[in-house]
Amino acid sequence: MTSTIRYEVVEGIAMITLSRPEKRNAQNVRMTYELNDAFDRAARDDDVKVIVLAGDGPHFSAGHDLDDVVWHEEFEQVSTWGGYGEPGAEGWVAREEEIYLQMCARWRSIPKPTIAACHGKTIGGGLMLAWVCDLIVASDDATFADPVVAMGICGVEWFAHPWELGPRKAKEMLFTGDFWTAQEAHRLGMVNHVVPRAELTEFALSLARRIAAQPMFALRLAKEAVNQAVDVQGQPSAIRAAFTLHQLGHSHLLERFGICMDPAGIPPALQERFPSAEPGDVLRERRRAARAGTKP
Ligand code: ZN
Repeated sequence: MTSTIRYEVVEGIAMITLSRPEKRNAQNVRMTYELNDAFDRAARDDDVKVIVLAGDGPHFSAGHDLDDVVWHEEFEQVSTWGGYGEPGAEGWVAREEEIYLQMCARWRSIPKPTIAACHGKTIGGGLMLAWVCDLIVASDDATFADPVVAMGICGVEWFAHPWELGPRKAKEMLFTGDFWTAQEAHRLGMVNHVVPRAELTEFALSLARRIAAQPMFALRLAKEAVNQAVDVQGQPSAIRAAFTLHQLGHSHLLERFGICMDPAGIPPALQERFPSAEPGDVLRERRRAARAGTKP
């Protein structure tokens, strides 16, 4: 099985690279667990002081891989939730608690500085990967979007939009599903720096090297101090509250269409992978077969 990420350590900096360029780094379940392993490895390596998260190919991340039929049971569970194999909302909530919400919460709390280096498109679940990092550096051609309202959901599972963009702009991003430029994201404070595409990796690494020159324990304390300030503003409760609304959306769609997203909102690029007139039928059958342990 090919790894979905690359991991390397150079001069105290762990470089984690999403590496499914043929899928525009869409995050499947395997990538989620391999990413978690890589973050853990970097967190536990005392020679690593800063972590950089980047992506191979033309885009940072196309988001969650909607075509993924693997259920998390193939991997060692990280959270304490249960009932993954159960039908209806019970299994779906369990899956998203495990692979999205609780995964993002633990990555956000890694007690070492993390930097996301985004280029090309960062869509939906890709935003979650960037947002859990402490700093975001973007290339001047980078764009960002959360288009999941069109799929019948209120926003991606890690609902940090109001903190990343401010409430009014968060609503606009969600209501329109528009792509926002790196320059606009920088103006709103979501992005720390915008640099030419060719300089993105070196800029992120040089920023990481400057941070790595600081004492490790003070870096941990500084990160924790800012995270705690955001926590007392209520971010964890707000994200969890939005997650329950997100699940209400999924449950409504499950009842109406038999799958957890509105078939009409499946992106055109993905529609091509569903030759049937009803993409919902294809997804439903693949997931049923995956749960039963048979090939769809
Ligand atoms: Zn979801």
